[in-house]
Amino acid sequence: MKTKLSEQETIEADNLLEEASAIFSGCTNCGRCKSVCPVFKVLKKEEVSPRGIGIIITEKLMETVVKECTLCKACEFKCHMNVKVCDAVLKAREALALKKKGLKTDEKMIRDIKNGLNMFDKGKKE
Ligand code: SF4
Ligand code: SF4
Repeated sequence: MKTKLSEQETIEADNLLEEASAIFSGCTNCGRCKSVCPVFKVLKKEEVSPRGIGIIITEKLMETVVKECTLCKACEFKCHMNVKVCDAVLKAREALALKKKGLKTDEKMIRDIKNGLNMFDKGKKE
């Protein structure tokens, strides 16, 4: 069942997306960061590369791709424009969580904890 977002949650999520998008405002789309991204090396898809993430976040269509990033910061070390990719990814993830579109594993963990289980799905609390 889908939970309706409160006005406050909607505003917070929109603000986070604006902030994430603003982080990529200096990105020149040069693609230098792609060569060092471990996720891109494995998946070989532009949309999981740091540059792809930037384009997608800027267009506010980031609902799947920001989940793949490992937050390793390799792209940030390579970036000549000092784009803080990980900060943008974290803000986008936070926005997704507020919109109830977070990672399924995280949602399950939160549900388990609310139901008195620990994060490993074991040990009902007394
Ligand atoms: S921080 Fe994310 S986008 Fe950047 S290189 Fe690492 S996995 Fe790729
Ligand atoms: S994040 Fe940096 S290195 Fe990557 S495409 Fe943008 S400007 Fe180039």
